[in-house]
Amino acid sequence: MNFFIFFCDKIKPIPNSKVGGSMKAEIIAVGTEILTGQIVNTNAQFLSEKLAGLGIDVYFQTAVGDNEGRLLSILEIAQQRSDLILLCGGLGPTEDDLTKQTLAKFLGRELIFDPQAVEKLDRFFASRPDYARTPNNERQAQVIEGSLPLQNETGLAVGGLLEADGVTYVVLPGPPSELKPMVNNELVPLLSTGQKLYSRVLRFFGIGESQLVTVLTDLIDQQTDPTIAPYAKTGEVTLRLSTKALSQAEADAKFEPVEKSILAHKTFEGLPLSEIFYAYGDDHSLAQVVFDLLKEQGKTITAAESLTAGLFQATLADFSGASAVFNGGYVTYSIEEKSRMLDIPLAELQQHGVVSAFTAEKMAEQARKLTQSDLAVSLTGVAGPDSLEGHPAGTVFIALASAAATEIIEVNIAGRSRRDVRKIAVLHAFNLVRKTLLKS
Ligand code: ATP
Repeated sequence: MNFFIFFCDKIKPIPNSKVGGSMKAEIIAVGTEILTGQIVNTNAQFLSEKLAGLGIDVYFQTAVGDNEGRLLSILEIAQQRSDLILLCGGLGPTEDDLTKQTLAKFLGRELIFDPQAVEKLDRFFASRPDYARTPNNERQAQVIEGSLPLQNETGLAVGGLLEADGVTYVVLPGPPSELKPMVNNELVPLLSTGQKLYSRVLRFFGIGESQLVTVLTDLIDQQTDPTIAPYAKTGEVTLRLSTKALSQAEADAKFEPVEKSILAHKTFEGLPLSEIFYAYGDDHSLAQVVFDLLKEQGKTITAAESLTAGLFQATLADFSGASAVFNGGYVTYSIEEKSRMLDIPLAELQQHGVVSAFTAEKMAEQARKLTQSDLAVSLTGVAGPDSLEGHPAGTVFIALASAAATEIIEVNIAGRSRRDVRKIAVLHAFNLVRKTLLKS
C-alpha cells in the first residue's frame, strides 16, 4: 500500500476571441434615452459607417432600454443571426448601467477587473480627493472574463472584445466622446488586420491561485504577448494565455515557449508545474479527463463514499455513456452501513476509526471486490464544520484500489465550507484516478 499526505488549497477568478473574414454584424444600442427620443442614436450611425469602411456588413441595428430582460431577449436573437455583435452604452457606474453585467449573465461568465482600467481609476481618484470612490465606480474597470480589454482614452469605463461560441461581442461605452476614440484606436485596428484573439487554457489541480501567481510572478509581471491570466474555481486553477494572431499556427507558435516556461516553474514544494498540469481547454474538468481515460482503456470504476455521499458517482454519471465505465457503487455514510454494505467487520472499523487510512483502504478494496470493477475509489473524512474522532474538518482519506495495489492519500482541505470540502475531496479522488490511469 502506498501512502501519501497531500495538502491542498486556495481559490478565485479571469479571461477568448476572434474577428475577421466576411461577417454579419449587428449593433445594439443600450439606453432608455434613445427609446424616449431624448437622444439620437448617433453611435449606431458612426459604427455602421466604420464597419462599412472595413467591408463588414451590418445587417441589423437595434435600440433597447436599460432593462436586463429585454437586453437578454435581444442577445438571444442576435447570437443566432450575427457573427459580430457590437453593444454600446450602459458601461457607466450607475445602477441602470447593466450592459456588461447582462452580457456576462447571457454568456455564463464572470466579470473580472482589468488591471489597466483599475490603474486608471486609481489615478483618477488620487487626483480628485473630494470624489467618493464607490463600488459602482469599480464596476467601470471590469471586463467579462475572456475579453480583450479595449481601453478608454477619454473616460473610465473599459470596453471589451470577446468570442463565445463563434460569435464576437464588442462592448463599447455610450458617450460618443468615449466610443469614437475607442473604436478608432482600439477596435478598428483589430477588425482591419484580420487578426483574431486566440487563447490557450492550461488547467492545474493541486495548487492555489495565489501560489500559482506567486511562483509565476516573473512571467506574469513581464507578460505582454501572450498575456497570462489566472482564474480559479473551487479546487482548480486555470491559466489563460491570449494573443492576437492571423492564424492558429501563428498563435500556437507564440504560446509554445510561454507554456514551456510556465510548466518548468516549480511550486513552493519544488514540484514542477508540469506535474500538476492536467488538461487544456475551458471545459476539460478532471472528471471529464478521467471519464475519457476510463473509456479509452476499457476500464470500469466503482466508489464507496462516506462524506461525499455519492458526489463522485453522480459526477461520473453526468457524462453520457457513463454506463460503459460505471455499473454502480455505494453510499456508506454511517459506520454500520460501511460494515454492512461493504462487508467489513464493525470491530475493525471501530478500532481504526472512520476517518482513517485503514477504513479508506478497506472501503475501496471491498467495493472493488463486491462489484468486480477494475478500480474502486473510497472517500471517508470530515466534511465539517465540527471535527470528528479528533480530526479537524477537511481531513479526508481517499483510497484507490486496483488489481495491482491500493493507494491511499490524506488531504487536508482547511478553512472551507462543508460544501467545498466535499467538492474538493471529489476532485482529489478524480485526480488520484487520473494519475493511476496515466501510469497504466
Ligand atoms: P456613462 O459612464 O456616461 O454612464 P455609459 O457607457 O453608461 O456612460 P449611457 O449611460 O448609456 O453610457 O449613456 C451616456 C450618454 O452617452 C447618454 O446620455 C448620451 O449622451 C450618450 N449616448 C449613449 N448612447 C448613445 C447613442 N447610441 N448615440 C449617441 N449618444 C449616446
